[in-house]
Amino acid sequence: MPTPPVLERLAACAEAADLSGEPDREAVAVLRASGLLALVVPKCYGGAGADAVALNTCVEQVASVNASAAIMLFQHCAVTSRIVENGSPAQHREALPRLADGRWLAASAWSESGAGADKKNLATRADRTPDGGWLLDGAKSFTTSAGLADVYLVLAQTPDEAPAAASSRDTGYGAAGQTFFLVPGDHPGLIPDTSMRLTGMRGSATGFVSVRACVVPDSARLGATGVAASIIGRVRDSGASLGAVAVGLAQAALDTAHAHAERRGLYVHQAVRHRLVDLATEVESARAVVERAGRRTAADPGMTTLHSKLAASAAAERVVADVARFLGSAGYVETHPINRFGRDARAVALMGPTNDLCKELVSLPWNR
Ligand SMILES: Cc1cc2nc3c(=O)[nH]c(=O)nc-3n(C[C@H](O)[C@H](O)[C@H](O)COP(=O)(O)OP(=O)(O)OC[C@H]3O[C@@H](n4cnc5c(N)ncnc54)[C@H](O)[C@@H]3O)c2cc1C
Repeated sequence: MPTPPVLERLAACAEAADLSGEPDREAVAVLRASGLLALVVPKCYGGAGADAVALNTCVEQVASVNASAAIMLFQHCAVTSRIVENGSPAQHREALPRLADGRWLAASAWSESGAGADKKNLATRADRTPDGGWLLDGAKSFTTSAGLADVYLVLAQTPDEAPAAASSRDTGYGAAGQTFFLVPGDHPGLIPDTSMRLTGMRGSATGFVSVRACVVPDSARLGATGVAASIIGRVRDSGASLGAVAVGLAQAALDTAHAHAERRGLYVHQAVRHRLVDLATEVESARAVVERAGRRTAADPGMTTLHSKLAASAAAERVVADVARFLGSAGYVETHPINRFGRDARAVALMGPTNDLCKELVSLPWNR
């Protein structure tokens, strides 16, 4: 779990990064030194071997003080889990100790403008080179930790490769003939660009990453050729939920409301107390469904993960909006943290799989 000093340091840099919109290097330095990057790395590689309940709890706690840092941590752990599940022994030996001890921060470069939320229309492609390597070419967008990460999990179409049978089944997310590559941050041809100005999550270095004349060896491929969609399809089964980010933000908003009620002597009003109880009930309910996703005890754990993102992100947006109203004029001052919480909370629904796509994925079996 994040220690109180780690949470204090992450809290201290959140506001400055929100104001500047610059990549929050201080938050990344804190994450690297905190041990949190080791969460999902197996113990035999120097990690914590944490399960999804612990991961979601850590992400929630980080989000309660710094949501940008929380999504950088979440993406790092998501990529790390994909390496654990799909990496070769050599990839495990090289990457996992570095991902655990903070030398490597990992990022996901899947999205691109025009690919669609479901990533079915990727323009980024990877073609075989004569010596058996790959030539990557394309432009990614909305990559969290762009320019800060040491390794990127790049999703590319490998058009000339016959898709494996496992990849031809439509999982609703990704398409046949897509392949994952692990590209180091300093690799020639990988070009990050953090000029994207986000409304929220402004410290998260969410930006563009291009791969131009980017030649990688075949050993950079993660998993078999053409099976990325089936890897993506299994992601939700892990129980790791972006809903945890939403719960952290909702809790931060609720804490802000209590601080305001205390300072202004508002607890004497029954209406105020009951309003705060309603908000706390929303936060607890969201936390419960995220925890259930992490436990993976449902008949279909992947469905619970999707439900948890839908429920928690919607709850966070409602809670933050109501706390903003509760704060009265104080909350209407531009620099009040509640406004950052609101902009950050809106991002959770937009992050992959977007809430619309979550609904598509939940309802997919009914339409077959
Ligand atoms: C703060 C932030 C951080 C992010 N970090 C990353 C990251 O680290 N790596 C990464 O790869 N991506 C990241 N993303 C991108 C995110 O994963 C989304 O998948 C991507 O932004 C989708 O783009 P879009 O909504 O513009 O897609 P569009 O396809 O243009 O979607 C437009 C609208 O249509 C809906 N829609 C589209 N397709 C479907 C469908 N099949 N079914 C139902 N509804 C649909 C969408 O939900 C959306 O409301 C991040 C986004 C944000 C906001």
